[in-house]
Amino acid sequence: MIKIENLHKSYKMGSNSLHVLKGINFSVEEGELVAIMGSSGSGKSTLLNILGMLDELDEGSYTLDGVPIKNLNETKAANYRNKFLGFIFQSFNLINYKSAMENVALPLYYQRVNRKERQEKALKYLEQVGLKQWATHLPSELSGGQKQRVAIARAMAAEPKVLLADEPTGALDSTTSYEVMDLIQKINDAGNTILVVTHEEDIAHMCKRIVHLKDGVIVEDKKVEQVRASQYV
Ligand code: ADP
Ligand code: MG
Repeated sequence: MIKIENLHKSYKMGSNSLHVLKGINFSVEEGELVAIMGSSGSGKSTLLNILGMLDELDEGSYTLDGVPIKNLNETKAANYRNKFLGFIFQSFNLINYKSAMENVALPLYYQRVNRKERQEKALKYLEQVGLKQWATHLPSELSGGQKQRVAIARAMAAEPKVLLADEPTGALDSTTSYEVMDLIQKINDAGNTILVVTHEEDIAHMCKRIVHLKDGVIVEDKKVEQVRASQYV
């Protein structure tokens, strides 16, 4: 589903340049649930933004569902983004003056789905995240965990190939974090490919595979059982 080879990324600031990703190689198969774990500043969001076509790579190659992602103009990138990818953010990024249902329906509007079908699908995905009865409520009437579940329903509504979540539990208390991760596991069990960026080890352990990023390189890439086994020897 995802294949990146020898990926490099630097940020240029005036005459200075910060080399953030220093030759990343990894692939993700369909149906995987992968954590990209690392401390703050290790380059996780930079990597996820490139995978999400929100930013461009400097060197290396990126193939998404067989499509080489390179030198796309903004229209084409936006089309691929809508077709392939769903995003979940730490700060939920819901639209405050729209109801839960309208928020979930929004990506379908951009896909030119008609109004009736938008409503039906939005309700279906709200039901999947356990929030059907909150459909007409505004984000301000929802708890943090509920807001993130609306955001997850919104990411799923367009039926993307891959869900990309950047610190999805970063703004939540630990109980709510586990509930959100339970939901992410359930969505993955249904066959969805999901990447979760996190700096928290216990959140990473709720994924099936952990890719450990440190100073812009992958220092470990293991199935979670292997990580656990190596911690108890
Ligand atoms: P993480 O998500 O792991 O905390 P980031 O990918 O956000 O790490 O950042 C990696 C490094 O790149 C940090 O040193 C950060 O300050 C820097 N950085 C991130 N975004 C930008 C940007 N747009 N311009 C310049 N530097 C950036
Ligand atoms: Mg980050």
